[in-house]
Amino acid sequence: MATGRNAEKRGGGTAHGRNRLLRLAHGHGMALSAACGLSVAAALCGLVPFWGVYEILQATTDGDGPSDPHAVLGWAAAVAAALIGRHLCAALSTGLAHRVGFDILHAVRAALIAKTQRLPLGFFLDRPVGRLSHVFQEQVEILELFFSHQLPDMVAALMAPLLCLTLMALIDWRLAVAALGILPLAWAGNAWMMRGHGPRIGAYFGLIRTINAEAVQFIQGMELVRSFTVRGGAGGGLGGRLVDAIEAFRRFALEWQTRWLPGWSLYAVGAGTAPLFVAPLGLWLHGRGELEAPAFLAALLLSGLLGPPLQKVTIYGELYQRVRKAEEAISAILDAPEPPVAVSGSEPVREGRAFAVAFDAVSFDHGGKPALREVSFTAPAGGITALVGPSGAGKSTAAHLVGRFWDVGEGAIRIGGADIRTIPPERLKAMVSFVFQDSTLFNGSVLDNLRMGRPDADRETVAAAARAARCHDLIAALPEGYDTPVGEGGARFSGGERQRIAIARAILKDAPILILDEPTAFADAENEALIQEALSGLMAGRTAIVIAHRLDSVRHADRIVVMEDGRVAAAGRHDDLMAACPLYRDLTDRQAEVLRWRLPGTQSDVRSGFEQEA
Ligand code: ADP
Repeated sequence: MATGRNAEKRGGGTAHGRNRLLRLAHGHGMALSAACGLSVAAALCGLVPFWGVYEILQATTDGDGPSDPHAVLGWAAAVAAALIGRHLCAALSTGLAHRVGFDILHAVRAALIAKTQRLPLGFFLDRPVGRLSHVFQEQVEILELFFSHQLPDMVAALMAPLLCLTLMALIDWRLAVAALGILPLAWAGNAWMMRGHGPRIGAYFGLIRTINAEAVQFIQGMELVRSFTVRGGAGGGLGGRLVDAIEAFRRFALEWQTRWLPGWSLYAVGAGTAPLFVAPLGLWLHGRGELEAPAFLAALLLSGLLGPPLQKVTIYGELYQRVRKAEEAISAILDAPEPPVAVSGSEPVREGRAFAVAFDAVSFDHGGKPALREVSFTAPAGGITALVGPSGAGKSTAAHLVGRFWDVGEGAIRIGGADIRTIPPERLKAMVSFVFQDSTLFNGSVLDNLRMGRPDADRETVAAAARAARCHDLIAALPEGYDTPVGEGGARFSGGERQRIAIARAILKDAPILILDEPTAFADAENEALIQEALSGLMAGRTAIVIAHRLDSVRHADRIVVMEDGRVAAAGRHDDLMAACPLYRDLTDRQAEVLRWRLPGTQSDVRSGFEQEA
């Protein structure tokens, strides 16, 4: 059974991922410990005034006046120093933790960027952009927030009650024990609050991811949204889905808060009730002459300090769960299996300038769904091979497999006789260029876009490639020529112009193998002619595999592979297939009918495509 993408699921375990993230933080262990230590020191300084007041009261109520004025002065100075020290330690802790937080943020993002460049491209086709950008943005930010703020605060919030109880025990251990009377109430409140919390955190992130994915689709599909706006509606299906996702999140958050609030209230009240336990016992001990008034007062004040940090602890506990989820999402990317590269293999053999590409009994599943079954054909070196067939036949999947977007489940794809799994990824990348139906340009100048595949190309070489791709005149006429920014996604160009720039980019990259997904599909008649000219420049001497949706455009290809239901139904030249392959004949006849169809009163016709290269 072909495995294909199923193999992807085997690698990434989250436990390993957590270790990986801890390792990312590991280089900052000393600084993090120091930040936490300083935060605890700040909490300790916060307790010193209470202890100081206790000591001063003790000293002043021993007799008629201060029995030891030096001790009083000493404690007053200690209190003043502690007040300053508290803020100093807190500031140093925050500064240090932020430094570490931003370093970790940088390290995680750098690791994600490096990893995404090694992942098979199919990884990105299989996942909505919004979900991935949510991991790159929000979830990495959650880590930064955790290391910069929450970790030091959390350690301090955990230590402060312990310090408080220790001081109370030093005054009178029985009062410290009495303060522990808060535990049952706090525990009950916490248990109530945390019921079903884990799955809810998962659902919470799931809803945020959905909003992100819908928002990206909504913005990317704005033209569609505008064209199909329903009067008074949310703006067509995409807008409606985004509004639904936001509404689902609002409902979820409100419902969660309603469930959470009673438990939280019980916990918050419970954690703050220590004085209620300490006061009666203290009064009783004082009445029996076993506890001095200053000691009672100090213990009572200290017991009042137990509540706030304990209340913080639950909030941090909840935040920590979010950090764990963020870690898991980041790890799922960092641990995703990379395409394995076999250590040894035969060297790809060139035929002239080009390489032959051979599919050898290739089978492949898309997540368990068969897409290709024992597909075998050879794209001759330096020739044009067209993949044709009904929609869903497996043409795009086959073409994408040549670039290792995914790895074949069974069989092999060979370039110049070498299994592509034995070719180092960087080399394979250099050997294969893709031009899709609707090429995107990235934010930058035209020059940056053209030089993508060959950053060291000088301006003359770039211009020569642009001339061959019939886009030099267009670029030269721009306000800043080749240095003109293309706008987001290449917005300042029409689809056909973007295609020609993408073809120039491929010419400059000079890869011997081209995968073309009918690059003229969305072009108007004028652009189509120019794109055809550009393509003839690009394809000359290279091995081209063309996914053809319009059969007339590939009638003169060197080899036409007819695909149906993931299998090769027939392969050969146009005339042979017309004679021997009923499916091909049928497809050709149906397309001819479509082409004969015209809007009433128009003379337009669809021009034939790759004929010019033949
Ligand atoms: P064609 O290019 O001939 O239209 P495809 O290669 O796109 O065919 O699709 C072949 C089969 O694989 C179809 O059933 C399609 O639904 C499925 N498929 C294609 N891409 C994916 C994907 N990224 N995830 C899941 N299924 C896919």
